[in-house]
Amino acid sequence: MEKIPVGVLGATGMVGQQYIALLENHPWFEVAYVAASPRSAGKSYAEAVAGRWQLARGYGNAVGSLTVQDANDLGAARAAAAQGRCAFVFSALEMGKDEIKALEEAYATAGIPVVSNASAHRWTSDVPMLIAEINPHHTDIIPLQRKNRRWDRGFIVVKPNCSIQSYMTPLWALMREGYEIKRMFVTTLQAVSGAGYPGVPSLDIIDNVVPYIGGEEEKSEQEPLKIFGSIDGSVIRNAEGPLITAHCNRVPVVDGHTACVSLEFGAKKPSLEEIRRIWENFRSLPQELGLPFAPEHPIIVRSEADRPQSRKDRDADKAMAVSVGRLRSDRIFDIRFVGLSHNTVRGAAGGGILNAELLKAKGYL
Ligand code: NAP
Repeated sequence: MEKIPVGVLGATGMVGQQYIALLENHPWFEVAYVAASPRSAGKSYAEAVAGRWQLARGYGNAVGSLTVQDANDLGAARAAAAQGRCAFVFSALEMGKDEIKALEEAYATAGIPVVSNASAHRWTSDVPMLIAEINPHHTDIIPLQRKNRRWDRGFIVVKPNCSIQSYMTPLWALMREGYEIKRMFVTTLQAVSGAGYPGVPSLDIIDNVVPYIGGEEEKSEQEPLKIFGSIDGSVIRNAEGPLITAHCNRVPVVDGHTACVSLEFGAKKPSLEEIRRIWENFRSLPQELGLPFAPEHPIIVRSEADRPQSRKDRDADKAMAVSVGRLRSDRIFDIRFVGLSHNTVRGAAGGGILNAELLKAKGYL
């Protein structure tokens, strides 16, 4: 099969680097266009990331020799699309929210679909916020989104905040089996790579825990409701619950967001054995379709008393699985557990690639 040429906007950043590394040898997609800020534009990709490449694995010569374009230069993107070098883009830009919003819309208007990691369009009512295992059917809104905006080929899909990925699939697995979740209390311990590069100054985070991440608690409390919501006409309506309260903390871990979760169910309450069984057997559309980035086991249940741990479990199943453990009853709510996922893979670039694979399987790309 001929590979689809893709672009990465924000290719030099923390998430962009993950895209470049993860797409090396991807069976369907091939990076043929890279773009970042005007600071990097005009340099080869290798020159642009020299001294700030953050991953243990490298990138191929083909990507290293690509010239970095200015992501704000629509003319360059249009030309690449016309020359068959950019069928769609992954957006991993870090700029002002309004600037990203306008730029992603400009790409879609130019006929270039956008698979985004940025938060700018998460609350746009006709833009699906996808976790491929939970709400793959929300892609059904894409034809309406195109119609609303008179876009022929372009569209925008987004993925949610990285930290919620550590518990969303475990929650959904229980909800899918008919267990209503009424209330949830979550405390997250979030890795420094979640703040991008160079991110949190080292003197602020070494030997320290910072009990504040701007905007993160609001995202943690609200985004699940859109993902659990449903399409109503040409908008996605939020689900009414669960009611969530979140504490988000930055901790001195490089990769891997941990979440300590307590849940209260509705009238029907599963036993701990039932929960374990549901999590271990959980599979969804990406697994049924055999998508290349789909983890074989979306939820890995650890039975050890002291797991999951960020360093030991973040890379489980291509770093795309959510590891859960410490499942036990709760003295105030019904149950509690610890969830962990890799924030720049499952929570960012890997999740974006899985969304693109889903869109390709459904014929949108
Ligand atoms: P980052 O490391 O700061 O990278 C930012 C990227 O945006 C770089 O490629 C940078 O290019 C580019 N950029 C900055 N200003 C620009 C401008 N004015 N015009 C065009 N490009 C510009 O950030 P990140 O952590 O990779 O995050 C990228 C996006 O993903 C953000 O929207 C973030 O919220 C989201 N996200 C991040 C994570 C995570 O775990 N890190 C998880 C989920 C979602 P230069 O290198 O040329 O400056």
